[in-house]
Amino acid sequence: MSATPRLFVDGDLGEGCPVAMSGDQDHYLVKVMRLRAGDTVRVFNGRDGEFLATLHQDGKRNATLLAGPRTRVQAVSPDMRLLFAPLKKTRTDFLVEKAVEMGVSELWPVFTDRSDAERVRSDRLQRIALEAAEQCERLDVPVVSEAQPLAQAIIRWEPLRTLYFCDEAGDEGEAPWGGQSGRAPQLDAELAGTPRASAALLVGPEGGFSPAERNWLRSLPYVRPVSLGPRILRAETAVVAALALWQALAGDWSRR
Ligand code: SAH
Repeated sequence: MSATPRLFVDGDLGEGCPVAMSGDQDHYLVKVMRLRAGDTVRVFNGRDGEFLATLHQDGKRNATLLAGPRTRVQAVSPDMRLLFAPLKKTRTDFLVEKAVEMGVSELWPVFTDRSDAERVRSDRLQRIALEAAEQCERLDVPVVSEAQPLAQAIIRWEPLRTLYFCDEAGDEGEAPWGGQSGRAPQLDAELAGTPRASAALLVGPEGGFSPAERNWLRSLPYVRPVSLGPRILRAETAVVAALALWQALAGDWSRR
């Protein structure tokens, strides 16, 4: 891990230009990170790449940053949208942090029949996404949407964006999903050889999807039900497992 701290800023960035800081960012640099005049940080804004910036202190109060040379040019993350059902607070936070580290480009909280929360604080989740992006060296910060019902989220869908529906077969012990033929193929098998393209992933809540949701999802032409192996994973684990497979086979881990 590089020692130079990294900070997301809103304003435009350019060599030799002052860096506009928002809210308590100057306070954070001086009081929390204990930076002094002449110390450097790396700044990025999701548009202009990353710059080295030097702290200037004018008297006791005001800390300003002046951008130096650009250290990285802007890169675009692969187009992967994660639809997830809100979980209990800590697990949702964890899910968002891990999804950002794993390289999603958008986070869409969706209410499902069995989701665990009635309200989602998207602004809080956005803050977590931002911190994860700062920490993991990303140059962009995925946007966290306002939560919406699953049906509303996917009824108007871009037909070319495949939605991989993580479908844990077998949670209705007495009514198996149509036996072998109803079982979803493994995600890695489904991805092998697919061209790079926009995609999305849907992971359900702790209680899984209802039979009605499963039937409906499986009937949509852009939805591919997929399995993540023989064990039932917690939702946040499923997110990490599925994104690892996708990045390796169709995203930016692969060199195809
Ligand atoms: N319905 C299960 C638990 C759901 S796990 C139960 O009642 O115990 C939470 C979510 O993780 C699921 O909705 C699914 O989207 C995903 N998931 C977990 N394990 C999975 C697997 N083996 N294959 C595909 N998806 C999985």
